[in-house]
Amino acid sequence: MQVPAYYADTYEEQALTQVTAVGERDGAPWVAVEHCLFHPQGGGQPADRGWIDGHEIAPVRDQGLGLVVAVASGETALPVFSVGQPVKVRIDLPLRIAHAALHTAGHLIEAAGRAQGWVLAASNHFPGQARIEFTAPRPDARLETPEGREEATEALRTQVADAIAQDLPVTWANDAEGRRIVHLAHLHSAPCGGTHVRSLGDLAGIVLPTLKVKKGRIRLSYSAAHRER
Ligand SMILES: [Zn+2]
Repeated sequence: MQVPAYYADTYEEQALTQVTAVGERDGAPWVAVEHCLFHPQGGGQPADRGWIDGHEIAPVRDQGLGLVVAVASGETALPVFSVGQPVKVRIDLPLRIAHAALHTAGHLIEAAGRAQGWVLAASNHFPGQARIEFTAPRPDARLETPEGREEATEALRTQVADAIAQDLPVTWANDAEGRRIVHLAHLHSAPCGGTHVRSLGDLAGIVLPTLKVKKGRIRLSYSAAHRER
């Protein structure tokens, strides 16, 4: 039995837990822990960096097993772990919250774009390449000139800044089908398996350069950080 602890608390840095399963993947050993702090790559968000008893690991979601398994990261192989063995787990917390801030900012920009009447087409929350892409179901004359694109971007910047100034809460709950639905107060709801900041006031340094239109898609690149803690 594995608990995805990264869902309950984005900011949990370390824990004492135990090994729940071990195995091999592509000839290399893996280990799964009960209280799993390690968010695997998914939903446009990069994987955490973590350690088990001081050994650096990379978490990977194993769809077949329905587990997040940890494999060696870097040069050294994992030692042999056994089921039931107590272990200390830890994540790179500054990296985690940087990912969570970028990811949560992506939800917020998505909400602002939807408020413009646009429809989400794609998203990427990786550092240095974060962007949200939309399509416009109805012709939007603003998108046809540089001034109009700047005006449309400025409307988004204002909405994003207002939501952050209001420090709107970020919450989640399972729906009737057991899906995890993330809510940005009244602004936005979406099924999501990522990690999020506690409230939008945790976001800082949002930069939204003027949107681009490419091959019929409205592209908003962005950067975001976590406020100082
Ligand atoms: Zn999310």
